[in-house]
Amino acid sequence: MNFRKPKGTKDILPKDIYKWHYAEQVIRDVTALYNFSEVRTPTFEYTELFKRGVGTDTDIVGKEMYTFDDKSGDSLTLRPEGTAPVMRAFVENSMLNDAPLHKLYYITNMFRYERPQAGRYREHTQFGGEILGSDSFYTDVELILLAKEVYNRCGVNNFKVKINSIGKPDERNAYVAKLRDYLKDNLAALSDDSKRRFETNALRILDSKNPGDRTITDSAPKILDHLGTESRSRFDKVVNELTKLSVNLEVDFRLVRGLDYYTDTTFEFVSEDLGSQDALGGGGRYDGLIEQLGGKPCPGVGFGSGLERVLIVAEKNGFTFGEPNKPVIYFISLNDAARDKAFELIQALRKNNIACETDMLNRSFKAQMRDANRLGVKYVYILGEDELNKGKGQLKNMSDSSQSEVEFDKIAEAIS
Ligand code: AMP
Repeated sequence: MNFRKPKGTKDILPKDIYKWHYAEQVIRDVTALYNFSEVRTPTFEYTELFKRGVGTDTDIVGKEMYTFDDKSGDSLTLRPEGTAPVMRAFVENSMLNDAPLHKLYYITNMFRYERPQAGRYREHTQFGGEILGSDSFYTDVELILLAKEVYNRCGVNNFKVKINSIGKPDERNAYVAKLRDYLKDNLAALSDDSKRRFETNALRILDSKNPGDRTITDSAPKILDHLGTESRSRFDKVVNELTKLSVNLEVDFRLVRGLDYYTDTTFEFVSEDLGSQDALGGGGRYDGLIEQLGGKPCPGVGFGSGLERVLIVAEKNGFTFGEPNKPVIYFISLNDAARDKAFELIQALRKNNIACETDMLNRSFKAQMRDANRLGVKYVYILGEDELNKGKGQLKNMSDSSQSEVEFDKIAEAIS
């Protein structure tokens, strides 16, 4: 039997893991700067949460969920996105009783049954942020700045932020009526998906990727022209603030979420350094969502961003992600007694926070030296019979090949 990983998944091997650690540390650093706290939710939830919290007319819920019945017959779904579980936890733990405003982030894996291709997996990792409790336009701006800072610190600079507003539910309903009015004359020419959406969720026809659909919707009425004064002014404030802060923005009327509880700002980060899957991340406001999930009315805004895609762009741009972890010192032993001593000494050094390694394959001196070189250590410490008798080993500095005798209890001092 020759086992393979499931389609659309990946192994992240030791030779690459340091890039992930680097990016995750960036996220932890930047979220701390913005005063966000981490929240961790279960890998699976009751299926109903995503039906309610994402919407049955979305691709995620309609086609992509990993849903199964557990042994008691409950329908569970592997988390396909981050917002609904965070909102569930927010409501279930009555977090609004603790403070009026919460800034939360997560870094976690997501599962979607999609057709795998470059930058698209069936298990991927997202980092995301949510600000709950305020409808201030500054919260939209702050989330966009946070994501931008994470991208920049990971060497991702070539991207733009597409932005739009879908207003308040009543404004949107009035607009959708106008849109349907416009589309009904072109109904026959729309794709099958869009024909279906004409009935269920006409707004989503705007974000269809089908070229024919796009030609038709190019001249459709634009939602920004149909917002009330308050929504329009809110949108203008977000755009002005981001422009003031030199964020590369593009207003895009196609950026809709198409769900009842989404409100006002929608945004997406896109990079031409990604192929056809050009979205680095996306988000928007959802002032109606928490209520929809059984909580008290509470405004919110959030985004989710694929970490694999950040790494793809960073690597393409030659970003180096620091260096993999490596030991500082390698102990070379020339006989069994020396091996025993080496093992004892490395434990003491590790207690001093010094990363060390020794041979575990009974290799020859030459092979141990090769291993030390491969690991790229700064020092080797050589122990043979003489050294054991004297209580001193040979400390070799690998950068200039200088060598000196150092007592067993002076190693930490000698290399610090
Ligand atoms: P979405 O919830 O679809 O807006 O996804 C948020 C972000 O997650 C996207 O902008 C992508 O960067 C990333 N993403 C979504 N689906 C996948 C996937 N199947 N594979 C890799 N990254 C993904």
